[in-house]
Amino acid sequence: MHIDLVTLSLVGALQALLLAPLLLAATRAYTGVARQSLRIWGTVLVLQALGWALMGARDQISGWLSIVLANGVLMISYAETTRALRLLLGVPPRRGLLAAIGISGWLGIVWFAQVQPDYPMRVYIATVSLGGFLLLLLWPLRHALRPGGSTAQRVMLLVLLGAAAGWFFRVCELIFGDVPTPGLLAATPGNIAQMIYSAMEPVFASVGFLLMYNELAQAELRRLARTDALTGMLNRFALDEMAQRLFQQTSPHSGAVLMIDIDHFKTINDRFGHAGGDRMLAALARGISQCLRADDVLGRVGGEEFLVLLPGTGIDDALTLAERLRTAVSGIQVTLDGEPQTVTISVGVAVRQAEDKGPGALVRRADRALYAAKNAGRDQVATLDATRPTPTRDVAECSG
Ligand code: GH3
Ligand code: MG
Ligand code: MG
Repeated sequence: MHIDLVTLSLVGALQALLLAPLLLAATRAYTGVARQSLRIWGTVLVLQALGWALMGARDQISGWLSIVLANGVLMISYAETTRALRLLLGVPPRRGLLAAIGISGWLGIVWFAQVQPDYPMRVYIATVSLGGFLLLLLWPLRHALRPGGSTAQRVMLLVLLGAAAGWFFRVCELIFGDVPTPGLLAATPGNIAQMIYSAMEPVFASVGFLLMYNELAQAELRRLARTDALTGMLNRFALDEMAQRLFQQTSPHSGAVLMIDIDHFKTINDRFGHAGGDRMLAALARGISQCLRADDVLGRVGGEEFLVLLPGTGIDDALTLAERLRTAVSGIQVTLDGEPQTVTISVGVAVRQAEDKGPGALVRRADRALYAAKNAGRDQVATLDATRPTPTRDVAECSG
């Protein structure tokens, strides 16, 4: 079988060239970091197409073009690939280090092309530079290997390791092979394997890249679907899920919920408009969250009502915390139309009972307790559950 390396390198270049405008056109649909990294990726494909076309034309064009320029272009493309992926992985791109690796590698290649021609040395230098870029990607990608790690990142890891294996094979062939110095276009097994892989890599790597972006977008959508836009706290949907979890993880008398409703909130809206009310709501949510422990969960059930889930908390401690929240909230001043305003809250407290069939029963009891607090005159804490001295948590001071 005759395998023509020039054709292979031109096929790779053509694939990259055709893929580039598709990805560059797609950037319009993306935003933020994803758009930036997709733009870099599209440009990288154009550079790779140019680099491989120049390499493939080695016998037709001058060494200056096919070695010095081609390697310069490819070095930029590998540095930029690393930058695009690091951006997508959410780690600092480290442009200085990328430039240092790329420039030193390229200068080494130029030296062993123009000053002291030595083909194996050029391959070794290129391999070391690519190894540097690879390490800058393998380090952040190592998380993908953990159980439950990102599938898209594993695909990318595989693509990168495939490329590294190709280079390794080629270096081994130069060191241990029969032919002393097979040129770039000599049809040796190492050259063929690497050229086939390089021809397919633009497609493989772009698929891995798009999968990674897709995973990122999905995670962001999931986060938005669970977040209340006004306060940044969990929304009702997420709270239902968390309440279910709280119920499964706690035993009777050691998991509590607080249902909070702002007193006479309509008057704030009436006086300062909806926008003023919104500012007050956001400030109160922040204030309440500063009184909670890391594993407590705060969310906005709707309107001006908040729910707090307290794992590992008995009724007495839940009542103490509710009282602390009530005091903290009454001390929060929000300036609306130039006037400092305060509000009060009523809080209904419920703790899990042996007869509760699910989180719904617990939340309904907290809601009824809230109603009792409202009826008793507002600005107070109420519960329908019997108190019992079971100290289960430290009720921290409110910070901030
Ligand atoms: P109380 O609870 O003490 O009985 O009186 P209240 O005035 O707070 O009455 P209620 O809880 O029934 O009304 C809640 C008000 O909260 C009604 C609505 O205008 C306002 N509200 C609900 N959602 C929002 C919101 O997202 N932003 C603002 N600014 N106001 C909201
Ligand atoms: Mg209210
Ligand atoms: Mg209400």
